[in-house]
Amino acid sequence: MNSIVVNLIQVRNRIELAALASKREPEGIELLAVSKTFPASAVEEAMHAGQSAFGENYVQEGVDKIVQLEKLRPWLVWHFIGPLQSNKTREVAQHFDWVHSVDRLKIAERLSTQRGEFPHLAELQVCVQVNVSEEDSKSGVALTEAEALCDAISKLPNIALRGLMAIPAPNPDPKIQREAFSAVRDCFQRIQSSHLVDPGYQFFDTLSMGMSDDLEAAIAEGSTMVRIGTAIFGKRDKITK
Ligand SMILES: *Cc1c(COP(=O)(O)O)cnc(C)c1O
Repeated sequence: MNSIVVNLIQVRNRIELAALASKREPEGIELLAVSKTFPASAVEEAMHAGQSAFGENYVQEGVDKIVQLEKLRPWLVWHFIGPLQSNKTREVAQHFDWVHSVDRLKIAERLSTQRGEFPHLAELQVCVQVNVSEEDSKSGVALTEAEALCDAISKLPNIALRGLMAIPAPNPDPKIQREAFSAVRDCFQRIQSSHLVDPGYQFFDTLSMGMSDDLEAAIAEGSTMVRIGTAIFGKRDKITK
């Protein structure tokens, strides 16, 4: 078996063990394979091992891969997870199924309008990125501002508000990892519980958190989607965030 297939099996095992350790159903945690910097052939290999959801960080690289793999499109779900500038929103609205990294209303408004230009596409699935590690605050809205941004996004057409995404600063200590994830989970549950009958929140079910080095802590704190790159595809050559 090639290494991507073996790695996928190992990652799925880690997810299952982490779920069982916190008495959760493993099926409640989706695996997003982060294929940034890896070629379309790596995505194809993972797909043949049963993986369908893929995450990309860079607009051009992601769109190139999506176009290259056009014939497999019906089996793939593409998630944009990287920083998003306004001049790149149209390409994302045209090609991706999900965006995890919305942290400003202006970006969401552009995605909403531009998604509407492709009426054959389903609503764009959107998570709001929150910032839990202030010292490294390049992206993400503050936890205290997440609900207001969600409210505004929940009213936009052509977009389904799905939940929150977070990338805490890397830390080797599982206790510190869990503290950050727990703060995001609290915020998520607070927002969810104050909109139980709000139609703009009917699909608000996603807590996108956990990467190769902290997926266990994220699952212990309620993650419903882990975004895994290195543990599936190997180390990346390019310097990435
Ligand atoms: C690169 C990246 C990942 C995957 O990180 P690994 O440590 O390689 O698993 C997850 N989420 C985001 C937003 C990323 O940029």
